[in-house]
Amino acid sequence: MAIELVGLDADDTLWHNESYFRLTHQRFNDLLGPYADPATLDRRLVETMERNVRTYGYGAKTATLSMIETASEVAGQDLHAVIGEILAAGRELMAHPVELLPGVREAVEQLAERYRLVLVTKGDLFHQELKLAGSGLGDHFSGVEIVSTKTADTYRKVFRRYGVAPEATVMAGNSVRSDVLPALEAGAFAAHIPYELVWEHEAADLPENHPRLAQLNSISELPRWLEEHAAR
Ligand SMILES: [Mg+2]
Repeated sequence: MAIELVGLDADDTLWHNESYFRLTHQRFNDLLGPYADPATLDRRLVETMERNVRTYGYGAKTATLSMIETASEVAGQDLHAVIGEILAAGRELMAHPVELLPGVREAVEQLAERYRLVLVTKGDLFHQELKLAGSGLGDHFSGVEIVSTKTADTYRKVFRRYGVAPEATVMAGNSVRSDVLPALEAGAFAAHIPYELVWEHEAADLPENHPRLAQLNSISELPRWLEEHAAR
């Protein structure tokens, strides 16, 4: 069956994201350095993030809340000043420029000529819409699905909404856990496009020799993979 619909992840597939989170995390570590050792800070922040994602969903606002919550446990008397700094770091995380990854503009333009494209992304609705507008790529997408989690069921619902069979769809993204495994489970093809940094929360192993999995080095390889798939 020919591929009709291409699902594209956004963060770290189309544009840089994790690198900005890492910078903010570093700033948080520097700020709280006088109050706790780095390993303790890391552990507490990760635990708080994991808990808050379940309550508030993914995104910069949840990261900001988690940093404040963690600081409140360690900063003691200086908490007031520390919170001001964390809020400033959180605002910068919301406002960072949209920095497209290499080859993304050309690949998206090429793909849009032949396929319906749908952006499937987690995170904060307001922030993701800002980033898509800032990317200048919005017109190439038939739809934008901002979802709270990415499970096989999430993808099945998206495919149904666009009226395509799973086997006529490929989902491309950097996260094995969110983009690849659930799309394969839903019966779609998946293209893994690695990003240099992996958020621990998203880490997972790629399946070996899966017949519907493409392992690409860059999004620039996706148009050709689709052509070769159509020829098979
Ligand atoms: Mg991503």
